[in-house]
Amino acid sequence: MEAKYKSLSIDDFQKRFPDNESCLVYLANKKWKSGFKCHRCGHNRYCKGGKNHVRQCTSCRYKESPTANTLFHKVKFSLYKAFTVVYFVSTNKKGISSTELSRKLQIGQKTCWLFRQKVLKAMESKNRFGLSGNIEVTDFVLGKRKIIEEGKVKYIKRRVILGIEKKGRGISHVYAAWIKDRSFKEIKKYMKKYVLSDSIIKCYHWSGYDKLDQDYDKVIRVRKSESQLALSKRMEKSLVDWLKGMHHDVDLLQNYLNEFCYRFNRNQMKEEIFDHLLDRMVNHGKWTYKNIIA
Ligand SMILES: [Zn+2]
Repeated sequence: MEAKYKSLSIDDFQKRFPDNESCLVYLANKKWKSGFKCHRCGHNRYCKGGKNHVRQCTSCRYKESPTANTLFHKVKFSLYKAFTVVYFVSTNKKGISSTELSRKLQIGQKTCWLFRQKVLKAMESKNRFGLSGNIEVTDFVLGKRKIIEEGKVKYIKRRVILGIEKKGRGISHVYAAWIKDRSFKEIKKYMKKYVLSDSIIKCYHWSGYDKLDQDYDKVIRVRKSESQLALSKRMEKSLVDWLKGMHHDVDLLQNYLNEFCYRFNRNQMKEEIFDHLLDRMVNHGKWTYKNIIA
């Protein structure tokens, strides 16, 4: 990716979070920043529920830890290590693989993989900032290798649709999604989710885009995509290169697309990714292995 990231140094990270206790305090403050609310009955008074900043509802006696019902729910290793994973995922320019995390933190690769998927879950778009204004939309096919069983590899194709919002001569926002095919139905589903209706759309001369003018103010169709969709083509290339370097599992493609877009968009907004990501992880409900593979 071409973008530069504003990031926290490892020294600053370790000063802020030297141990499990500091991570717990941080989570408790984030989770209950607008006051306590019992997860079970909704009551808003509590007393101390034992160690580790657990709070106990004074009405139904339910005990809740700072990690419960967040993406840190029942994390399989220390909270300090979990924060370190979030740190590496958010500050590494290209992201970090579970194998590398496993080596750095001395945690099993599968355990790392699972927790990393939870961090990616927090990167999913909340659609608070749909694309608007001048938009380019492109779609393309990605080929990914999938390991069927030991020594057996299958080549699988996936179509991806990508929209960019232009700002000046550059790009301010991007969203990408996996689509089943190039039909109007699939394209419309993407557009409805990510692109606001007052936008001016530039897209291919392809039948799947024919009826977009029903929903958008102005739709410009182009035949020479390389020159007329130059910015989205450039973004497509950096996305494809990034995926090549890191990610192979075709079934989790949407998660990786989310990661790519999240990194780019946050950087454009000049926001600190690390804190933002922790915030989302606290506010997201729990997410289990079953949810991930479903
Ligand atoms: Zn309660």
